[in-house]
Amino acid sequence: MDKIIDLRSDTVTKPSKGMMDAIMKADLGDDVFGEDPTINALQEKSAELFNMEAALFCPSGTMTNQIAVKMNTEPGDEVIVDKTSHIYLLEGGSIAFIANASVRVVDGDRGRITPEQILENINAPDDHYPTTKLVSIENTSNRGGGSYYTLEEMKALGDVCKEHGLRFHLDGARIFNALEQMEIKAQELGSIFDSISFCLSKGLGAPVGSLVLGDKEFIRKSKRLRKKLGGGMRQGGLLAAAGIYALENNIERLKEDHVRASSLFETLSSISIVEEVMPVDTNIILYKLKSGTTSADHAAKLLEYKIKALQIGPQKMRMVTHLDFDDEMLEKTTNVLKSMTL
Ligand SMILES: *Cc1c(COP(=O)(O)O)cnc(C)c1O
Repeated sequence: MDKIIDLRSDTVTKPSKGMMDAIMKADLGDDVFGEDPTINALQEKSAELFNMEAALFCPSGTMTNQIAVKMNTEPGDEVIVDKTSHIYLLEGGSIAFIANASVRVVDGDRGRITPEQILENINAPDDHYPTTKLVSIENTSNRGGGSYYTLEEMKALGDVCKEHGLRFHLDGARIFNALEQMEIKAQELGSIFDSISFCLSKGLGAPVGSLVLGDKEFIRKSKRLRKKLGGGMRQGGLLAAAGIYALENNIERLKEDHVRASSLFETLSSISIVEEVMPVDTNIILYKLKSGTTSADHAAKLLEYKIKALQIGPQKMRMVTHLDFDDEMLEKTTNVLKSMTL
């Protein structure tokens, strides 16, 4: 087997044969005129899935998140997020650049914050302070290593936001990993959040695309903002067809990724070069190497066996399981890891 085994991210998947067939058959129109039937179908399907009023298809999760931040705030308002959140740390400073909002960073547990932490970080209504307006959480948490909030935890955070007049956003780039792991339905989330963003191009295996969800007025205004940002995609139904296929075929199988990730957890926990493996709850594995080796060396060694993993620090590594990582690849990766010694 000579294929590259790419564990850097679940964004590396290529469209399957079934997905390509769906793309080839897509009905198309000009979406800037609202006339692409496949994009319209994807948007309706997504809104229904989460029990929200409306949805908007965008090129990336960064765009859906940042549209939501902009829509939920005025310039100078403050957004409460965990210190590792993608929306704050990994979107090029867009909260400042697009929404002109201020950020209150909270020290969460593997990316997860608590209702108490929200309460502690709401500014008093004093002219000195930025107005706290929005709370954004990430489920699953990327830098938290795929940790997730339970339904009860999301509801408790939502209740605090409602009581204090704060808007509540979900960065659900990998929400289906959390939902599948907990065996709860996406329908449950609609009433908790003011806006939700989710990605088709992560574990769901589509090549491109994310959706932002909210009420009708929120989405109408978001569509104007998407235009300003250059995110109107004309005959984007080619991509939306892949998205519909992903929602219909690739959600339930996410559990397989979680099983393979926990197998990698076991292997990594048992080998001498690894100092520590963070708990694995879904499809992301974060681990720290012992001081005798560096992530650059480790990544280079893996690459000799055509295995790619992501360096996220001088000693820290990440692996993410996905649709294009099967049992045969798991076996090979396991054997290679077990052969590594200090
Ligand atoms: C991948 C990701 C996004 C969106 O990223 P894009 O590459 O812009 O699609 C947003 N939030 C989280 C947590 C992610 O992992």
